[in-house]
Amino acid sequence: MSELFQLRCEQCGRHFGNGPLVLCEDCFAPLEVAFDLPAVRAAVSRDQIERRNPDLWRYAEFLPVAEGFRSDLPVGFTPLLRAPRLGARIGSQDLWLKDDAACFPTLSFKDRVVAVALAQARAFGFEVVGCASTGNLANAVAAQAARLGLEAWVFIPSDLEAAKVLGTAVYGARVIRVDGNYDQVNRLCVEIADLHPWGFVNVNLRPYYAEGSKTVGFEIAEQLGWRLPDNVVVPMAGGAQISKIAKAFSELVATGLVEAKPVRVFGAQALGCSPISSAVSGGKTEIIPQLPDTICRSLAIGNPADGYRAMEVIRSSGGWAESATDPEIVAGIRVLAEEEGIFGETAGGVTVSVAGQLIRDGRIQPGETTVLCITGNGLKTTDALVSELPEIPVVAPRLEAFEEQLSGVGARR
Ligand SMILES: *Cc1c(COP(=O)(O)O)cnc(C)c1O
Ligand SMILES: [Zn+2]
Repeated sequence: MSELFQLRCEQCGRHFGNGPLVLCEDCFAPLEVAFDLPAVRAAVSRDQIERRNPDLWRYAEFLPVAEGFRSDLPVGFTPLLRAPRLGARIGSQDLWLKDDAACFPTLSFKDRVVAVALAQARAFGFEVVGCASTGNLANAVAAQAARLGLEAWVFIPSDLEAAKVLGTAVYGARVIRVDGNYDQVNRLCVEIADLHPWGFVNVNLRPYYAEGSKTVGFEIAEQLGWRLPDNVVVPMAGGAQISKIAKAFSELVATGLVEAKPVRVFGAQALGCSPISSAVSGGKTEIIPQLPDTICRSLAIGNPADGYRAMEVIRSSGGWAESATDPEIVAGIRVLAEEEGIFGETAGGVTVSVAGQLIRDGRIQPGETTVLCITGNGLKTTDALVSELPEIPVVAPRLEAFEEQLSGVGARR
């Protein structure tokens, strides 16, 4: 192949070309996609990128898709928003939100990884695709498979939020609810992928899938005016996204698209499932798997596939990782919505809450440019809020009834 990328063993560096492969035959370490960065540098400039459509395919040279690849799915290029009111609440004067709650087509950052994985699934000739999912990935695979005319098999833990199950089944995907947690679902999918000729986006296509997360980093840099932030705060499940955002920043520097600058990378997890954050904040070198118990289902991966990579990226950047309790997650969702008008899912609550802790602890300074990754939409996780918000009164359809209500609560004049 004449492509600018191929699979390479993370440990021994052996190259494997391109295909639905995950582990090195020699040392059993994970494979990742390696790019010929000098060739990428020669192939593309800031000006060219800026003239392209506002979606993640504008970074095609940095993605594992065949030369000349065309997609009509405008995934990604979500807003990067200043967040002055949330900043004032949590103590940052230059706070930004990367708003993947608005990502096309299924309102989470998983649309990015699926877009890239399915491009390769088609290149490899798969007609059936699938995934093991904590919810958002299920939605993204089901929707994008439908648009591409592929058959989808989606495996989820049986206790997922109703909106995430419905938002998968509606696309005609075959949904299998497994009586177990995500880690058990994932192990089952590894066995199924061995038996059936299916492309599982996060199992046998995982190296390609993971590269899709880089687009969050590319967009942040471009939207800041081709400049890197001082800090990013990223929610972690398997740990792929945080690792690949860091990879994106270093590829932008290596290709001369942005000036070199240290970026501290901070990870956020729910306390009820915090294998990566616990290892980082406890100064450990081992990641100890956990049994998840948290309202944040999207991050409930007890045995994170890219946990070591995430830990390495956090530590070497000078960052840190923390976790948030369930009540703190709910408070984070509410403050984000009330101060900035963005309804994030539970993972957003985790990120906002952890960002507040990091600022209070002095790990992030108020004047620094800090970007929080809001990775999914709150309309999918309303279960977390139903018992939290005050009951909404009903009034009679008469002016006096409303005025009486108003005198009780008051209004801004
Ligand atoms: C999957 C997911 C993450 C974490 O992604 P990893 O790459 O597995 O760490 C973060 N936020 C949301 C909303 C997710 O669905
Ligand atoms: Zn190897």
